[in-house]
Amino acid sequence: MNCVGFVGLGIMGGPMAANLIRAGYTVTGFDLVEESVKRFTEAGGQAAASVADAVAGADVVITMLPDSPHVEEVALGPDGVLENAKPGTLYIDMSTVRPDTSRRVAEAAPARGVRALDAPVSGGEKGAIDGTLSIMVGGEAADFEAARQVLEVLGTTIVHVGPAGAGQTVKAANQLVVGGVYALVSEAIVLLESSGVDARKGMDVLAGGLAGSRILDLKRETMINREFKPGFRIDLHHKDMGIAVAAAREAGVALPMTGLVAQLIAAARAQGHGSLDHSALLKVIERMNR
Ligand code: NAD
Repeated sequence: MNCVGFVGLGIMGGPMAANLIRAGYTVTGFDLVEESVKRFTEAGGQAAASVADAVAGADVVITMLPDSPHVEEVALGPDGVLENAKPGTLYIDMSTVRPDTSRRVAEAAPARGVRALDAPVSGGEKGAIDGTLSIMVGGEAADFEAARQVLEVLGTTIVHVGPAGAGQTVKAANQLVVGGVYALVSEAIVLLESSGVDARKGMDVLAGGLAGSRILDLKRETMINREFKPGFRIDLHHKDMGIAVAAAREAGVALPMTGLVAQLIAAARAQGHGSLDHSALLKVIERMNR
C-alpha cells in the first residue's frame, strides 16, 4: 500500500498529497492546472500525464475533485480510475459529491476488482495542511479498515459511518451546519457594527461562551476585516447546499433552515461572490441592511 495515485491537487488535494509524501508514500498525481502540478512536484510528488497514468501503478487511488460530474468522469470515464486501476486497488473518493454518485461508483467498482469508498472531509484548507481533517467514510467495513492507515495521515477524526454514500450524507449534514453558523455569525457582526458596539470585542466574548465554535475561532477576525480569500469557495458551498436539499427531499424530511441558508448562499453567488470564501455570506447580510 505504498503507491498512491492522487487526482485533483487543488486547495485541499495539494496539501493532502504533500502530507502523504512526507509520510513516506510514493505519490503520483494529476491535475488539469499546471500551477497545482508544479506545487505538487516541488513537494516531492511525481507528475502523471493523465488520470490513467496516475492510477496505473497505484495500490491506493485518491480523488479530490470539485463536484459530482468531475468524479463521474474521472472515476467511471473511459480514461478513468476504474478502467485503469489494477485489480485489488483501493479507490477513496474524498470529494464532496451527491450520495448517488458515490453509490454508482461503488456499484461499478467490483466488476473491475476495485474496492471503493466515499470519504469526504471537513476541516478546510487548514485541516488539509495540518493533517487534522475529519473524515466520514461510506463503504464496506473491511475496505475501511484497509484504508485506515492512509486516512490517518490526512485526518484525526476518522469514522466509518455506513454503506456506500453514507459518508456523503454525513458531509451534507456537516455543510448545512457550517452554512447556518456562517449566516448567524454574519448577522451578529452586522448587529454589533450597526449598533455602534466594537464588533471585535463583542465577537471575542461570544467565542469564549456557549456561542463559541471553530468558525468563530478561525474566522471572526478575517470576517470583521472583510478578508474573503478562499479557503472554501461560495461556489462549492452552493453545490453542497444543493446536495443537502436533495438529500432532504430523498429522505422525505423538511429542513427549513437549510432551505434558507441555501438561498442566502445562492444570493452570494448571484451577487458575484462565487469565488470568494464562504465567510463572504457576510456581504449578503450586509447588503440587506445598508
Ligand atoms: P479546488 O477547485 O481547489 O481543487 C479541485 C482540483 O480538481 C482543481 O485543481 C482542478 O483543476 C482539479 N480537477 C478538476 N477536474 C479534473 C480532472 N478531470 N482531472 C484532474 N483534475 C481535475 O477545490 P478544493 O477546494 O480543493 O475542493 C475539492 C473538494 O473538496 C470539493 O468537492 C470540495 O467541496 C471539498 N472540500 C473542500 C474544502 C475546502 O475548504 N476547500 C473543505 C472540505 C471539502
